[in-house]
Amino acid sequence: MATKIDYYAVLEVSRDANGDEIKRAYRKLAMKYHPDRNPGDAEAENRFKEINEAYDVLKDDQKRAAYDRFGHAAFEGGGPGAGGFDFGGGGLGDIFEQMFGDMMGGRRGGRRSGADLQVQVTITFAEAFAGVKKKITVPTRVTCESCDGTGSADKDAQPETCPSCHGARKVRAQQGFFFVERPCPTCHGSGRLIRNPCKECHGTGTVEKNRTIEVTIPAGVEDGTRIRISGEGESGGKGVPAGDLYVHVSVEQHAIFQRDGANIYCRVPVRMAQAALGTEIEVPVVDGSRTKVKIPAGTQTGEHFRLRGKGFSVLRSSARGDMYIQVVVETPRHLTKRQRELLEEFEGDAAGHAKGSPESTGFFSKVKDFFEGKL
Ligand SMILES: [Zn+2]
Ligand SMILES: [Zn+2]
Repeated sequence: MATKIDYYAVLEVSRDANGDEIKRAYRKLAMKYHPDRNPGDAEAENRFKEINEAYDVLKDDQKRAAYDRFGHAAFEGGGPGAGGFDFGGGGLGDIFEQMFGDMMGGRRGGRRSGADLQVQVTITFAEAFAGVKKKITVPTRVTCESCDGTGSADKDAQPETCPSCHGARKVRAQQGFFFVERPCPTCHGSGRLIRNPCKECHGTGTVEKNRTIEVTIPAGVEDGTRIRISGEGESGGKGVPAGDLYVHVSVEQHAIFQRDGANIYCRVPVRMAQAALGTEIEVPVVDGSRTKVKIPAGTQTGEHFRLRGKGFSVLRSSARGDMYIQVVVETPRHLTKRQRELLEEFEGDAAGHAKGSPESTGFFSKVKDFFEGKL
């Protein structure tokens, strides 16, 4: 048997990836290397097989544990795992349905439909805050107009049942320890054989075409959100409903704002003397406006000031998060002669004035306790 690549490497996930991460990675790769997308590309087909094989194992806790322990040997005849594992035989048909249900049509509530499509959209932090409409181009298969989706050059010809799969649309093949079901290679999973295929679509009944769809991304959307747009996936062919389109939203990082749920954090530098004397500073708000924040005398570095309702919208709610200004007290560098004199004078005075340094007071009393063996 040829050398096999590590299943985690195949799916491009880490060994501690969770189920969702594995599923996401699988979907992404399976879409990319799907034979429909890469006709005649043997390498893509091999990758697609590897991806499915890896996912088949890693999505199942029991199989994954066996794989982690024994590697590929767990699933090959003669290996330490051979015969030692019972994965509830007969479940592979179900696995097949689960795996391909989303991608290849298959069944949704007992009904066939076109494949679901996944697209990735990246938006800015500000767009996530305000909401945005994005035009996205989706490569998709639509019903072939030339043959009206029948796949036959002669529209009136009755399609024949595929002789390889007898119309079952899939075939079983042995793979190591298991039987795996695959789309029938003769009829490409259609179950039919067309004697005189349509020149436009080569008998598939669908052709590849780019469509542009406008997607409304709601205000407050978070990084990693998935938006489903029903019926905007691939055509299911004649008389079969289209699949759904899933838009995966990535939100870019912002240079000055950080986000945690609906709240926004912003670190604002304040000069040492400003923090000591108290001041009012102007801070940016994510909506592009500015607002003033009072910094009371004696503010310490790390202290937060809350700006109520200046955070993100909460999805499906009228609530808004808050914005937090986090003060960073800045120690001056490159002092002028005058500044140095002033600070030296200040320091001479401050040294005998412990109450003015709240952090030091607590810290040095603990240090004293430490050296006395009390801590
Ligand atoms: Zn056609
Ligand atoms: Zn067939």
